[in-house]
Amino acid sequence: MPKDMESFLSGSVDCDVHAVVPSIDALLPYFEPRWRDMILQRGIPSAESNTYPSRSPLTANPKWHAPMEPFHAIPADQLVVQALDANGTDLAICNCLYGVQMLNSEDMGQAFARAVNDWLVAEWLDAQPRLRASIVVPMQNPDMCVEEIERCACDQRFVQILMLGLGEMPLGKRYYWPIYEAAEKAGLPIAIHAGSMYRHPVTGVGWPTFHVQEYAAQSVSMQTSLTSLICEGVFQKFPDLKVVLTESGFTWLPAYLWRLDKYWHGLRMEVPWLNVPPTEIVRSNVRFTLQPVDAPPQKEQMVKLFEHIGCDDLILFSTDYPHWQYDEDPIPAGMSKEMIRKIKIDNPQTTYARLAKGDNNG
Ligand code: ZN
Repeated sequence: MPKDMESFLSGSVDCDVHAVVPSIDALLPYFEPRWRDMILQRGIPSAESNTYPSRSPLTANPKWHAPMEPFHAIPADQLVVQALDANGTDLAICNCLYGVQMLNSEDMGQAFARAVNDWLVAEWLDAQPRLRASIVVPMQNPDMCVEEIERCACDQRFVQILMLGLGEMPLGKRYYWPIYEAAEKAGLPIAIHAGSMYRHPVTGVGWPTFHVQEYAAQSVSMQTSLTSLICEGVFQKFPDLKVVLTESGFTWLPAYLWRLDKYWHGLRMEVPWLNVPPTEIVRSNVRFTLQPVDAPPQKEQMVKLFEHIGCDDLILFSTDYPHWQYDEDPIPAGMSKEMIRKIKIDNPQTTYARLAKGDNNG
């Protein structure tokens, strides 16, 4: 980022940082007694996300974790210094990936979601006034998701709802619509983050052998989720709903939208509710976080890419701290001052109604 940018970044937002549960012990105080007893009696060690294994270098850049600590045990005050201060950013939105959605019991998923959200409030939002968070929901049961959204939404520091790219079924299906109805009603965007409930293979042709394959396949799941949301008519049913694809990459957009628009023209009799091309829906209702940037390093190609995307409103600044892919300078070379201002301030403020209001508490 150019040095002279720092003076006018008031109101800037990092739209994807990760608050990581360090151990099940840290969560225990936030469970209801019967769940606490069950966790202790059954010896449940944790519900860590398979997407980001806790000991993998992918999960936290080695330069940020303490030598004798687990890779992922980064406290809130350290995140503020290393992700916000280091980049001249005012606020950050914490997305907690803890494997809540992987649990087979719907009731246990709900108990873990409640504990994680209460832990976020007590240990992150109350501790650091520059942090905001996404509501973690038990995707095992949409009605329970709605309950959790309604329980948490009164705290204005929750600014969006966190879902994973790979659920029980494609995310546009009506099974999930109660979640979108609740999100629209509360004025909360839905973040769809890389991640899986592990109910189905993470690739279209079965289970991969290695984690490296799975991680690469996550970008395809984002395209599948977006196609499903658009074609099933989610944005016609909930026109004020905003969806933020998080850690999805975005350089695939021009080719993807060309293809989807093309087939929409030829097959729109199948989806009569889609009364505008998919590209228009993406421009009005869908946003993408910046890091990790899946672009070539040459700045001329980056400029060309944004010309192909054809809209300055789509990208939201993010670092993805503390994940390993985070670029040393999260702003790619070749971005104009105006574009940096848009992705760091204007686009997040427009996307997150609760940030624009400047509210801190419920
Ligand atoms: Zn992320």
